[in-house]
Amino acid sequence: MLNLCTFKTILKVIKSLNMKFATISCTLLGLFPVVFTSCNQADRITAEKIKKAVDEIWVVDTHEHFPAESSRLEANADFFTLVIGYLQADLISSGMSDDELEFMLDNKKTDEERWKIFAKYWDLSKHTGYGQCLKETVKGLFGIDEITEKTFPSINERMKETNRQKDWYQYVLKEKSHIDVSIVDPLGTYSHPDTVYPSEMFVKVRRFNNFINVTKSGIAAIGVQNNQIILSLNDYLVALDTAFEKAVTQEKIVGIKSGLAYGRKIYFEDVSAEEAAPLFSKVQLAKPLNGNEYKKLSDFMMHKVIQRAEKYSLPIQIHTGLLSGNFRGNPIENTNAIHLSNLFLKYRKAKFVIFHGSYPYMAELTYLAKHYPNVYIDMCWMHIVSPSASTRYLEEWLLTVPSNKILAFGGDASIEWAYGHVVLARKIITEVLVKMVGDGRFSETEAIVIADRILRKNAIDLFKLKKVDDQWHRPL
Ligand SMILES: [Zn+2]
Repeated sequence: MLNLCTFKTILKVIKSLNMKFATISCTLLGLFPVVFTSCNQADRITAEKIKKAVDEIWVVDTHEHFPAESSRLEANADFFTLVIGYLQADLISSGMSDDELEFMLDNKKTDEERWKIFAKYWDLSKHTGYGQCLKETVKGLFGIDEITEKTFPSINERMKETNRQKDWYQYVLKEKSHIDVSIVDPLGTYSHPDTVYPSEMFVKVRRFNNFINVTKSGIAAIGVQNNQIILSLNDYLVALDTAFEKAVTQEKIVGIKSGLAYGRKIYFEDVSAEEAAPLFSKVQLAKPLNGNEYKKLSDFMMHKVIQRAEKYSLPIQIHTGLLSGNFRGNPIENTNAIHLSNLFLKYRKAKFVIFHGSYPYMAELTYLAKHYPNVYIDMCWMHIVSPSASTRYLEEWLLTVPSNKILAFGGDASIEWAYGHVVLARKIITEVLVKMVGDGRFSETEAIVIADRILRKNAIDLFKLKKVDDQWHRPL
């Protein structure tokens, strides 16, 4: 096939020879194989250089929910620990029943029985992004190329061994994955401020859902946590100030996170304090709010949380687009990042980091990130949700949105999957950049600069991260 490089070179030769038209065709026929070979070789060298550069980047992983290492190592890990929720959702999507899932995850059943159930649906799902991520993970961490009945016992054994392996996190994240630091959004018990995430590998963000979803027991708990008596909406906002102050100075968060898209439409109306105060009093008096009232009070609080994030220059990570699991009740159109436009317009100094490429609403996000200086695209989770959409849209975004606005990796899975995921992400990024250089859109040097930006520098700049003596932090 005549590629752009070949075509351009032939044109140059014709120009330099200044040939008459009649002689051109004969000369072309003679030159073609030579030019084609040398161009192919040049393309290959460029591709190799870009691949090497992308592989060598020490990535900033913008989104994870890792458990603290001590509890991960105390858990009875085995092969099925690798079959994380994402892959379980694909297995269910392919036909696995709830009973079969329960059986597969039950470590009191025999390994053989559990494998049999897995194998039936794995065969139908192994080609998806999640399937590829699992294969890549097993291949890279344990040197086992295929997941089959034959290899299953060794993978199972190797996973059991990881429980006894000291510094497993360090080995997987640093040595194997070249992930320099991960921004962790701790969930459940791990969200307790005392959970240790060593700063040579992790920094944290915090959710303020407990303030946004206002309930009577929630108000009481917030009062206790902040050592404050909360009698009014005003007191509640003072408690929010205290919580932010503590999170920034003591817990050293680098940003905040919202996962509200799992339960509602992410349109947050601008509600006045006059309207919100009586609703807050109703909650305190244990009088029920109707759906609209509850939404208004949450909307009001979301604006208050954003105002504080803006004040402390903390980027706001927002879940948009696809929801994990199966049969989620919230209609997917409620999660489209387009609903957030009023916030982008109002809070111009805030930095909104839009998660998961807003999949499947990537086209809308292209516009939002292009138009609003305060909107950033974060591709976390996306490479394994859809490797092909990631490839298509990374090209689209690089051609549409300034390159400082794209964050190209966040694992959003388990420790082990962070490895497989980053391998797939590097592959996709390399493929896109090589294509764009081939198309004559960037030089090789520009492509390498862009790779470093989207995998590392942009996140460091946006979250104001600093690494001193191998410890990551965000200076106050
Ligand atoms: Zn997540």
